[in-house]
Amino acid sequence: MDDITSKWNRLSLNHSENQTIVLTPTITGNGKVLVAKFFTKRRINMEAVLRTLKSMWKTEKSFDVRDLGSNMALVLFDEEYDLDHILMRGPWSFDKYLLGLYKLGKNEAVKNARFDRVSFWVQIHNLPIQHMNKENAEAIGNPVGLVEQVDASSTGDCRGKCIRVHVNMDMGQPLCRGIKVDVGESSPQWVSFQYECMPIFCYWCGLLNHDKRDCKLWVCNKGTLKKEDQQYGVWMKASLERPQQHPDVAPPPQRNRIATLTPPEILAPALATIIVVGRPIANTADTRDSLSISAINCYPTYPDIYRNIK
Ligand SMILES: [Zn+2]
Repeated sequence: MDDITSKWNRLSLNHSENQTIVLTPTITGNGKVLVAKFFTKRRINMEAVLRTLKSMWKTEKSFDVRDLGSNMALVLFDEEYDLDHILMRGPWSFDKYLLGLYKLGKNEAVKNARFDRVSFWVQIHNLPIQHMNKENAEAIGNPVGLVEQVDASSTGDCRGKCIRVHVNMDMGQPLCRGIKVDVGESSPQWVSFQYECMPIFCYWCGLLNHDKRDCKLWVCNKGTLKKEDQQYGVWMKASLERPQQHPDVAPPPQRNRIATLTPPEILAPALATIIVVGRPIANTADTRDSLSISAINCYPTYPDIYRNIK
């Protein structure tokens, strides 16, 4: 069907076919539709999907799901705010596997949905405190993907247990485990990455779209590969989510979508890239008033969070 549709201009059209029907947008749901792809290996059941998503997302208005087959579904929202809010709080998991979500644009069909990119909060660990600023966060996050947001104060201060960057990544590339940075000493320093709300992924090749038992690398080398040969592992999952929060970043994720975490197993191998970190952060601090104002602007539906910040 798709093949015929794409080649329609090569067909010789008869009288009935050679006319153009003017369509009317009778459906008022433009901008309120997500296409969902469930990366779980189990066959999904729509009743279970709807029940689980309602429990996870807790939207203000209602939504419904329709089965598209091949572990995909349409999610139809009553309110576009709910849809955008869900995307902002991603990534999401279903059955501990990644749940891919694509917002259909105006005049887009289901076949336009793409699930080749996903956004994560990435924690950058081991960076010297004087280099924990927004400028360095962006420089370090850029090799991982498109940096969408940095957990920083309005002055660019990122000091805390780690730096957090929200990065949109190419799912066709292995997860980045860390990077070398030049802090002005004789040798580069390794900073490691951990991912918040990490679903199941492949410990052999570092891709998100399958688990270690379905990896071609594993299947083709069964019997010779050992667990010690795994280049990726559970140690890439953040043991603590949102270890610090600045008032200008997105609301925290919900806890009930997080895969079970276990302790680190092996150390991350080094990568080739070296990032030269920039100037140290200025020794400034937000006033209590400015924090309160930012919190009101950023968390209109999160009064508990606002109270904590205030
Ligand atoms: Zn793999």
